[in-house]
Amino acid sequence: MKRLLSIVVSVYNEEAVLEQFYREAGQVLSGISWDYELLFVNDGSQDDSLPILTRLAAQDARVKIVSFSRNFGHEAAMIAGVDYSRGDGIVCMDADLQHPPACIPEILERFEEGYQVINMVRTKNESAGWFKNLASAAFYSLINALSDVHFENNASDFLAVSRQVADVLKDSYRERVRFLRGFVQNVGFRRTTIEYEARARAAGQSKYSIRRLFQFSVNTIVCFSNLPLKLGIYAGLLSGLLGMIVLVYTLFTRRGAPRGYATIVVLICFMFAILFLLVGIIGEYISILFTELKDRPIYIVEETKNLERES
Ligand code: UDP
Ligand code: MG
Repeated sequence: MKRLLSIVVSVYNEEAVLEQFYREAGQVLSGISWDYELLFVNDGSQDDSLPILTRLAAQDARVKIVSFSRNFGHEAAMIAGVDYSRGDGIVCMDADLQHPPACIPEILERFEEGYQVINMVRTKNESAGWFKNLASAAFYSLINALSDVHFENNASDFLAVSRQVADVLKDSYRERVRFLRGFVQNVGFRRTTIEYEARARAAGQSKYSIRRLFQFSVNTIVCFSNLPLKLGIYAGLLSGLLGMIVLVYTLFTRRGAPRGYATIVVLICFMFAILFLLVGIIGEYISILFTELKDRPIYIVEETKNLERES
């Protein structure tokens, strides 16, 4: 029997590219030796994405839809895709054709060689400006310095996992605040990378603002490293040492009692800055603990199409 490939595509207001995506992906997929399913996860689109998908699903039984009740974010959409997919291999990709479907045959080759986790690493990102590229490089060096988990530089959410890995993700990585890319780095198994060139978005606009990306980066650091929590100890030691030096200096020189106003102001500002920063860091951890504790669903499915588990 032929093996099955699941392509998981997250869709949020992508009416402008969906048909082009379906065509281009279809062309590549018709040439592969595996069976395939195209699993679109509609992440609460407000435009015509769902009607377009529904039409495609009516024509083509290999098109499957999981539709959320509202927007839950890209990560939730990928998780749902992994949950609902049935393939022996699963590929997660974006709908905007930034992740070229032409890479799929190479992914299949790696699966056939026995790799279980395939990270797609972009060599060039035409659509992102210099700022996004620089910020992304800074983010990856920071998270690698802070976390025990190694993050592939420029790893994208274009990735592929085997059924076995998908089952692990499904059963064991149910955190509310999550970063699929990180989990995939965290599970072990035989891994490999494939390089690709990110194209410019085929149509429509990026859904990620700088603010959203920043929040995303903070969440990832908090989820994958406890080091920031320990910063307080170092800051405390450092300011203690500083205090001792100033103390000794004042005692021995007996100068500076009437003067030194500027020193005091600067020291106070400096200390408070550190203090508030640390309170803020602890706040980030508490907010994530709180979110996990509430245990709300990662996503809510409103309807599905062409899936056995119809809802
Ligand atoms: N996306 C989603 N939910 C969201 C935001 C984005 O499912 O809340 C999807 C979007 O439709 C696209 C992919 O995630 O398929 C990547 O989004 P986008 O292209 O806007 O991000 P960028 O490539 O600019 O980082
Ligand atoms: Mg994109």
